[in-house]
Amino acid sequence: MVELKTPEEIDRIGVAGAFVAEILAELRAAAGVGVNLLALEAIVRERIRERGAHSCYWDYSPSFGRGPFRNTVCLSVNDAVLHGLPFDYALRDGDVLTMDLALGIDGWVADAATTVIVGTPDPEDQRLVRATEEALGAAIDAAQPGNRIGDISAAIEAVARRHGYPVNTEFGGHGLGRTMHEDPHVSNAGRAGRGFPLKPGLVIALEPWFAKTTDRIFTDPDGWTIRSADGSRTAHSEHTVAVTADGPRVLTAA
Ligand code: MG
Repeated sequence: MVELKTPEEIDRIGVAGAFVAEILAELRAAAGVGVNLLALEAIVRERIRERGAHSCYWDYSPSFGRGPFRNTVCLSVNDAVLHGLPFDYALRDGDVLTMDLALGIDGWVADAATTVIVGTPDPEDQRLVRATEEALGAAIDAAQPGNRIGDISAAIEAVARRHGYPVNTEFGGHGLGRTMHEDPHVSNAGRAGRGFPLKPGLVIALEPWFAKTTDRIFTDPDGWTIRSADGSRTAHSEHTVAVTADGPRVLTAA
């Protein structure tokens, strides 16, 4: 069931969204060569505790993971793209790191992800990261009242195709608000003009992610981390967006 939010509820999701953006900006600045993933996890844990926010990931036990998850941020390095389980690993020069964060404040949830290249970037990795950012921008532009979910999916897919990246459709965007995952699903590929109509009050996480040379994935033996099937590098960009009568409103903007 799709639940439309009132303007007041969207504002409250925006409060959580601003906090998600603030923490992700801090993590981007902190993610240098030699920094341990567990130190990044510790930053998020502390910020959430200080604020009295609630982690959507802590104790999360979905069908696709070996629950419960006992961390507050997903950190995915290089060929890892989604649900990366923080572990004892010091970041190396040139690593591609995706940080995905969902949390709630006073019962309202926001979700965003950003990919950063640690130290010296490989130009091909930069191109991949920028493609996911470009696809996210196109997805947001398509989140107009009167459009349909398929318009968002098609916009993401068009950017991927233009850059020559394959698109996986097993994991994509989703509704959210009271919880981290609500209806509708927002595939990262699809046909314009199809699917659920975008009405004011719809709040969705849009999250294009691409692997350089494959649309296939597998789950790491850690039970959580999702990696590209061929080991190629990956990137992921995500914002929580509200469809409003005035157009899309990004609730996790920095
Ligand atoms: Mg997310």
